[in-house]
Amino acid sequence: MARTVIANVMVVDGTGAPAAVRDVWLEDDRIDTVAPPASSHGRAAVVAGDGLALAPGFIDVHSHADRSPFQADVDDTKILQGITTEVVGNCGSSPLDGDGPTDYLAALDHVHPVTNVAPLLGHGSLRRRIMGMARRAPSAAEARTLRGWLERALDGGAFGLSSGLFYAPGSYADAEELALLLQGLGSRPLVYASHIRNEGSRLVEAVDELLAVGRLAGVRLQLSHHKAAGVPNWGRTATTLAHIHAAREEGVEVGLDAYPYTASSTSVSANLPGWVLEGGVDAALARLADPVALRQIQHECEEAPRDGEWESMVAASGYDRMVVASNPAGGVGEGQALTQYARERHLSPFEGMVHLLAASRLDATMVVHSMDEGDLLRVLGDPQCWIGTDGVMGARSARPHPRLTGAFPRVWREFVRNRRLLAPEEAIRRMAGGPAAYFHIPDRGRIEAGWVADLVLLDPDQFADGSTFEHPWVPPRGVRGVWIAGRRVVAEGRYFGQGAGRRLRPAAG
Ligand SMILES: [Zn+2]
Repeated sequence: MARTVIANVMVVDGTGAPAAVRDVWLEDDRIDTVAPPASSHGRAAVVAGDGLALAPGFIDVHSHADRSPFQADVDDTKILQGITTEVVGNCGSSPLDGDGPTDYLAALDHVHPVTNVAPLLGHGSLRRRIMGMARRAPSAAEARTLRGWLERALDGGAFGLSSGLFYAPGSYADAEELALLLQGLGSRPLVYASHIRNEGSRLVEAVDELLAVGRLAGVRLQLSHHKAAGVPNWGRTATTLAHIHAAREEGVEVGLDAYPYTASSTSVSANLPGWVLEGGVDAALARLADPVALRQIQHECEEAPRDGEWESMVAASGYDRMVVASNPAGGVGEGQALTQYARERHLSPFEGMVHLLAASRLDATMVVHSMDEGDLLRVLGDPQCWIGTDGVMGARSARPHPRLTGAFPRVWREFVRNRRLLAPEEAIRRMAGGPAAYFHIPDRGRIEAGWVADLVLLDPDQFADGSTFEHPWVPPRGVRGVWIAGRRVVAEGRYFGQGAGRRLRPAAG
């Protein structure tokens, strides 16, 4: 087979080094040579790179597309952004429906994912599997079982553990439980990624809790989708970043990630106090049908917005900043603010929310316009802030957060090209070389001889997100080609790869 050369292209190699015009030769699944441009390429298949930039395939460190490789509707939302590897199993949630923690990993080996997949084990899923929705500390026997399953997952190739301390049952775990679970695993190539307990008024305490787990357990930390949510909490990332920098000075390894928007997205049920969800969906729906419980829930959501660690997003952001993103019950209300959804049913906003929760059996999701740009810029300014989509593809008719299809090109358009907050080389380092090294993803994230040929060819003047909150499915512009392990899977913005991705395993040490 003739070799391929991407010729006369501006190589942004993923390390942060200055870009340079090169010929990049591919051989099988690898980058064979990176050389000054030649005037002739013999019998090689030439991809003209004139005026274009070549970067390592992007690494989405915060994906929720755990199930995409198994779904009939081909998930091209990431590959069309130039993402070639997704870290899945985030926010404490990972598929754990077989006989053990490695069933999902093994299943991934039998399918052909669109992108490479680097799975984390979800602490919430694990805890629910072992302890149900019990709101208490694990017994000694349960703690041993939790640890045993974690070790088996790591032995089977998981890249680490994620937690979602904001969500039940992760919220039922304290720092000590997590530190004990992770203790002594620091010599393994793992990351502990956390959707922390509170992203609002107790944000600083929640970041401190993560740092404490890192200190106690001696493991590498990843602060997921770092933000300050809710108007009264804007500006708090100045404090959290100061704490993170101080921890790094002590030797604690702390990475973070962000999606470049001032709106978040989560399940509508995240608006409910933790006790409502105790015991599972049916127990929660029974409480939502009980007038006495409902009065208490409304009181906590709207008037007494703090109960220990739990904090009401309704109180911090308001129903009018919450827009229905998906409703598995026929898509009803998608694109409407909760206030509008309620008004159309002649309900109060609270009643409207409960109506939506009941109709969707707690499965509806929402976009929340909860953040300030100052915090976003501050977080993106951290040299160890990687990029994540936080995306999962649902029904194509739904109204998901545009980050699903646009997060990476938006970083380029808005923060590289328009505002010049990030140099191109630095942006590509944050999207590729930096996270690959941090997450122990071997042989990827760099353009260098011998590395795997996961690549994205961009028009640097055109690369941009197409998606908006109104029209979240418009694909990005300016992606001229994507390769996975030397196979071209995208040309001129179209995916035709037929599943060139595979499950990755962490590098040793
Ligand atoms: Zn999360």
